[in-house]
Amino acid sequence: EMTDVAIIGAGPAGLTLANLLQRNGISCVVLEARDRSYVEERQRAGILDHYGSEIFAAAGLAEAVIAGAPREQFLELRYEGEPHLFDGPAHAGGRSGVLVPQQLLVRRLLTTFLAGGGDLRFATPVDRINIKENRMVYAGGELTASYIAGCDGFHGVSRRSIPAAALTTYSFDHGIGWYTVLADAPPPRHALMGISEHGFAAQFGRGPKASRFYLQYDLGAGDPREWPDDHTWDQLRLRLGDPALPTGPITDREIVEMRSFVTEPMAYANLFLAGDAAHIITPMGAKGMNLALADAGVLATALTAALHDGDDAALRSYSDTCLRRTWDYQEFSRWFTEMVHDAAAAEDPFRRRLAKARFDRLWTNPKAADWFADMMAGTALI
Ligand code: FAD
Repeated sequence: EMTDVAIIGAGPAGLTLANLLQRNGISCVVLEARDRSYVEERQRAGILDHYGSEIFAAAGLAEAVIAGAPREQFLELRYEGEPHLFDGPAHAGGRSGVLVPQQLLVRRLLTTFLAGGGDLRFATPVDRINIKENRMVYAGGELTASYIAGCDGFHGVSRRSIPAAALTTYSFDHGIGWYTVLADAPPPRHALMGISEHGFAAQFGRGPKASRFYLQYDLGAGDPREWPDDHTWDQLRLRLGDPALPTGPITDREIVEMRSFVTEPMAYANLFLAGDAAHIITPMGAKGMNLALADAGVLATALTAALHDGDDAALRSYSDTCLRRTWDYQEFSRWFTEMVHDAAAAEDPFRRRLAKARFDRLWTNPKAADWFADMMAGTALI
């Protein structure tokens, strides 16, 4: 069996690429390890940044993918309980993100691709890739393609198929513990982050009746999933500076790894890595899913030029193009992480002061505020 482009993985990267190629009239097959309901229900990211939504708008997919999504306007940052409202769109020429939970984005992309006659095979994990022959082996079959897009996430088969000597990988542990709980507690008016000497905390709405909370915890001090709920609420009240914070039953408790990882290059022969297969980023700054979409956008344009016009220049620079944005976002995420966590660095008063200076600059230097808003909106960089 043969196709122009084989896409491994039906997450945000794979499904975005599949839809863009379909729009451009390029044949592709998507092979996905899990079944449809698993893929559709996986809850992760929540914000599609402005640049991410532009990718769909440019392809005429805005209505199918973003319709009805609320705009993200304010971010409230509370410094030791003192509120500061950041109006991102006002500092970014009106550009704003939209609230699109990842599972909704995935469901809409799946539906659109299948409605357009797309070939998507669930429960089909790729076992092996023969890069020399552009061939994928899966239980019950084989598929050969002119190009392979490895969109199979951090634990996928694509990156592992590339000879180790051809790749350089960078990983970084931010040394911070993050604990997240989902609760039936009313959402805040605006996305809310608390900067405090007691540790970072955040609250984001999840629909009209629920909130997701994040709390920094001390990595050496046991598993926060065992904290009594009262302790969790006490810490949230303290760090968010709100003694009257409405509470509710906690329905989910998880640990989030604060880790970054980048693979260079993001391509080998005719195999191109996109999204988490090539890089992971901490949730600080909400760029993981958006980076996956940005890769898919660049790859779709490059594959179209190669297959339609025989021009492979963009394909050859795919890795460099995507790595520029990847490192830019990694730096932003690290910058943001330090700003909101270092207030709790009791052992390092110098870093504490630096973090405060970084925070103050946002409210005193309009150019700094514009830059912050620009990064939140996402950058084209091409
Ligand atoms: P994935 O979504 O991982 O999709 C990869 C797909 O490939 C999966 O469907 C998988 O089943 C499939 N696959 C794997 N191996 C194979 C194989 N051998 N054969 C076939 N298919 C295979 N990002 C944000 O922007 N904001 C957030 O708030 C945020 N929160 C997160 C919270 C958690 C707990 C996690 C884990 C991630 C979070 N992220 C967040 C990151 C974001 O979810 C990812 O960056 C995004 O899912 C990447 O998309 P992807 O398509 O590259 O990979």
